[in-house]
Amino acid sequence: MNILVFFAHPDDETMLCGGLLALLSKSGHTTHFLSSTRGEGGERGDPPLCLQKDLGSLREKELFCAVKALGGRTLNFLDYIDPIVGADNTLFPFTDVMSLLISQLVEQIKRTKIDVLITHGSNGEYGHPGHRIIYQATKELVNRYYPKLTWYTVQAFYENSSKPYILNKDDPADWIIDVTSVLEMKINAALCHLSQHALFVRRKSNELGKQVGVPEIIPTHESYHLANGKKDLLMEIPILRSNLVRLHDIS
Ligand SMILES: [Zn+2]
Repeated sequence: MNILVFFAHPDDETMLCGGLLALLSKSGHTTHFLSSTRGEGGERGDPPLCLQKDLGSLREKELFCAVKALGGRTLNFLDYIDPIVGADNTLFPFTDVMSLLISQLVEQIKRTKIDVLITHGSNGEYGHPGHRIIYQATKELVNRYYPKLTWYTVQAFYENSSKPYILNKDDPADWIIDVTSVLEMKINAALCHLSQHALFVRRKSNELGKQVGVPEIIPTHESYHLANGKKDLLMEIPILRSNLVRLHDIS
């Protein structure tokens, strides 16, 4: 199968769906990565690893490293510039020109001959407008040009998740998988995103009152919503079926 994962910033691919992508490549499927921006407006690390003007090129390298760690076939960028995070952590979308974003995605879909598309969810996970616009553009694209396309969204909602604040509350989980068997690949991909490590561990470190490492914050469960398509194509893949988790098993 050819799978295209389309996201806003470097690190979304790993932190939102890295385990699934690792399982797919490990079982011989082809994964293509498409990032809208190079994460130019994000954090630079603590202490900062570079000047803000150089963050895009640093994060591009970090993303290449992560895609390799996840066994990806190709990585492409749409070359949008990620806006700087505003006061009080206000986030902005990288574009509001939906028609251009859609036509760029059409081009990528044709180029990679995909069977399955994976994107952000309808709530932009934690409400990120740059994530939400990708969902909205994809929805319009599917409705207009690819009504049969199998499309999944990440971080689908289920009860009793250990990270409820990152789930898309309007996208019910169709399935949840345990990615422990590829956790090392996912951790290695997260370690590639050096400039984001301080951000990755901040919440958990504050909660626990002590500094934690990146491997400790990588979740072993990932949930997905089938946003479009008659067939749940990924569930036909044996390695995914065998790692399915029943809701009542999750504590
Ligand atoms: Zn993002």
